[in-house]
Amino acid sequence: MEYRTGIGYDIHRLTEDRKLFLGGIEIPYFKGLLGHSDGDVLLHAISDALLGAVAEGDIGVHFPDSDPKYRGVDSAILLKNVVTLVNGKGFKINNVDTVIIAQEPVLTPFKKPIQKRIAAILEINEDAVGIKAKTNEGLGEIGRKEAIAAYALVSLRR
Ligand code: MG
Repeated sequence: MEYRTGIGYDIHRLTEDRKLFLGGIEIPYFKGLLGHSDGDVLLHAISDALLGAVAEGDIGVHFPDSDPKYRGVDSAILLKNVVTLVNGKGFKINNVDTVIIAQEPVLTPFKKPIQKRIAAILEINEDAVGIKAKTNEGLGEIGRKEAIAAYALVSLRR
């Protein structure tokens, strides 16, 4: 058995007049994440972790923001494409672990729905999807509620 790991990180700016999407679900908040796509930092971090594990670059290479077809795109669709690529190389996902860093909103009530949604997108069990959320203790741009960031780590087998 061959094992791989991959790491992903993303940060997006919070802005008014955008819906907030995190982990493939919409979260009620008065701001949303700016981006060419729906701005879902968590799904972007997971996508990059998966691509990194198979040495396939990053989502900017596969889904360039210069391409109008990705404007406002649901990041779950991008992640599904990445899963197809990973599976096509003969890899299966063991588990995914993640950290979301957001000063606001409080994400505790949304962790379970996010976990379920990501498990469904990745077609793995919910107990193989770790979701952690923390504030930035008021520090820096995340602490000032100007941005939300996410980290992801994946393990694959072939
Ligand atoms: Mg992004």
